[in-house]
Amino acid sequence: MTSTSEAMDTGDLIARAEEGLGLARPEIVHLLSLDDPAQVEALYQAADRVRRRCVGDEVHLRGVIEFSNHCRNNCTYCGLRRDNAKLARYRMEDDEIVECALGIAEGPCGTVVLQAGEDPAFTAERLCGIISAIRARTPLAVTLSVGRWPYEDLKAFRDAGASRYLLRHETANASLYESLCPGRRLSDRIECIRHLKRLGFETGMGCMVGLPGQTVEDLASDILLMQEMDADMIGIGPFIPHGDTPLAGHPPGDAEMVLKMLAVTRLVTRDTNIPATTALGVLRAEARKRAFSTGANVFMPVYTPKKYAPDYQIYPGKAVSVHEDMPLQEVVDYFSSIGRPIGAGHGARRKR
Ligand code: SAH
Ligand code: SF4
Repeated sequence: MTSTSEAMDTGDLIARAEEGLGLARPEIVHLLSLDDPAQVEALYQAADRVRRRCVGDEVHLRGVIEFSNHCRNNCTYCGLRRDNAKLARYRMEDDEIVECALGIAEGPCGTVVLQAGEDPAFTAERLCGIISAIRARTPLAVTLSVGRWPYEDLKAFRDAGASRYLLRHETANASLYESLCPGRRLSDRIECIRHLKRLGFETGMGCMVGLPGQTVEDLASDILLMQEMDADMIGIGPFIPHGDTPLAGHPPGDAEMVLKMLAVTRLVTRDTNIPATTALGVLRAEARKRAFSTGANVFMPVYTPKKYAPDYQIYPGKAVSVHEDMPLQEVVDYFSSIGRPIGAGHGARRKR
């Protein structure tokens, strides 16, 4: 094949993807493997047009509270893993969490995201109390990001008023998942995601890019899995090695590959809500901004109180919060400078 016919094939493929005709696995692999800057740019522009057509120009803000960094799990990539004895552990009090949500409700975020390690001190009953207090005292939509729970507990969270749930599948490659998450199975994680869909949660999935041993075919599988499961929200960020984990010596994921993943995911999934993740900003601050022109439409500012935020060390360098490093007004001003208004209300997924 000459380079001209390759360019034509690629152009054709991007055009078909833009129309929403669906992509087969080899086509996704082809797009993710592009390295010619003009072709990559064409991919980004198509994703940006689909983003505008399917979810509009609005950027939705979700305020994140990282309420506990205790975790019973031992994911080899994560700094909160239970065997990391170097981490100073904290857990917020229930009223502290609710107070923090009240603060979020005063600003431009329509949603609060409650995120933590899988901390047994937060029983389902306790979480339900926090969810219903936030729902009673604020107009915020409540999103949970608290790992795997049995169906009955997920149902209790839903009944208490939580309407969204983020549970990244991490990688669609089951053997890779199982080597990274000792004692856990990808099929259980996926079953939990199915429960969430069945319970009517707007459900978030997602993966890391650049995990040791991960291939471009694996990344294509991630996109196909999220399409098949009809994920409503999709978080994709680079793997960032943490010095106090077994993966300390591995290189981080590639920012450009994350941007291509966002673009292809937007082309395939159309109207999903896709954040520009903090991890991407840790890798390269401008890549996080760039993500808003390659498919992203959600920004998740961290509202974790100052005294705790530095210890929520999932990966190094992530203590960027609205309290110091990233004043929210700067974020809002930035979006308005690129013609992207802040979304009002909850910013739920538009139904197709
Ligand atoms: N305990 C919950 C929520 C907190 S972890 C859970 O596991 O679902 C949130 C996300 O952080 C994980 O889903 C994972 O994708 C991401 N993460 C963990 N370690 C990371 C690392 N080293 N680099 C990049 N992302 C990481
Ligand atoms: Fe715990 Fe989540 Fe980190 Fe795994 S990724 S160790 S479940 S906080």
